[in-house]
Amino acid sequence: MNYNEAFKTAVARVRAEGRYRVFADLLRTRGSFPRARYRVSTGEMRDVTVWCSNDYLAMGQSPCVVGAMKQALDDVGAGAGGTRNISGTTHYHVELERSLAELHEKESALLFTSGYIANQATLATLGKILPGLIIYSDALNHASMIEGVRQANCEKHVWRHNDVEHLEELLKAAPLDAPKVIALESVYSMDGDIGPLREVCDLADKYNAMTYLDEVHAVGLYGLRGAGVAEREGLLDRFDIIEGTLGKAFGVMGGYIAADAVICDAIRSWAPGFIFTTSLAPAIAAGARASVEFLKSANHLREAHQERAAALKARLTAEGFPLIESVTHIVPIHVGDPVLCKRLTDALLDEHGIYVQPINYPTVPKGTERMRLTPTPLHTDEMFDELVSALKAVYAKHARIRVAG
Ligand code: PMP
Repeated sequence: MNYNEAFKTAVARVRAEGRYRVFADLLRTRGSFPRARYRVSTGEMRDVTVWCSNDYLAMGQSPCVVGAMKQALDDVGAGAGGTRNISGTTHYHVELERSLAELHEKESALLFTSGYIANQATLATLGKILPGLIIYSDALNHASMIEGVRQANCEKHVWRHNDVEHLEELLKAAPLDAPKVIALESVYSMDGDIGPLREVCDLADKYNAMTYLDEVHAVGLYGLRGAGVAEREGLLDRFDIIEGTLGKAFGVMGGYIAADAVICDAIRSWAPGFIFTTSLAPAIAAGARASVEFLKSANHLREAHQERAAALKARLTAEGFPLIESVTHIVPIHVGDPVLCKRLTDALLDEHGIYVQPINYPTVPKGTERMRLTPTPLHTDEMFDELVSALKAVYAKHARIRVAG
């Protein structure tokens, strides 16, 4: 076997489909986000405005978060020094888990090194703990949930996205006493729609199922204390396991679940993705805790965020851009072709200093390629003007799509 040829062929296939990823070498300067600098291939630095960050509230540059991280670094140094079981549980981890449990009104919380691992490890482990388990997974669930469900090694059914009638059909077909888990997201990050949370809880009661909710794109952003959509809808107590990230609205990194103590205890005891890995650096845990606590009483930020998203959607719609309808802070512009999507975003970056990541297959289905914009409270009207004129210019140059105005 010519190994290098095989690797080259694998990359060539991705390129041919127009979805080869080039990372922008970005230099975020604290205090100026969403303005940043990026390094082009010649080494030259250029100004750029970031329109695709998941640091939705710019907490990554917040004095309270950065201050807590610096303090922890000074106090205890860099790494955790071990897995949670072998010297890697510090007071910072314990306190952060306490904050997260309190946020979601649960008895316990359990940290993971990312939201991805939280989903994958927890769902996979449910399959080990609950013999005969059947998992019902929404068709648009994140890759980390799909991977977890696959590794759960149990019977699984994928219900059509947000289609509770389909979910009920599938639930009905199984014995009432079979253990079941229904897994869904609150905010779907690529379309910006919201799952049918209440209906799912009702079905879970009716068919004796557990509920698993990914609130990765909602924690910090929705609900009176930033606990997510379940808090906003008054449903916190109806979800058995709530999963979230510390890497998006909380601006740091890491993932977690919040649940009854007995559930966290079982996952902690059985999940390889929790047990066999060095725990988060104490400074990360300190920064995340500062962010979670700060955002519990930061409705002004949540409101500003929603206002910016609504204003951007209204502006782009008025200008004639084909938005995918979103009821959240996510603003996707439909493109429908991977090569065009890449061409538009390349031109935005190279010619206009506007950084938007193309979203292509496998992140979204083929034919639904899009540009996904994520305005923060720090995106100004002036930045909106720059964005709109850049979009008009790149569409005029690269696409035959007519844009009004
Ligand atoms: N769930 C969803 C819905 C996500 O979009 C993501 C990441 N984009 C994750 C989980 C993983 O979270 P993290 O980035 O913390 O690994």
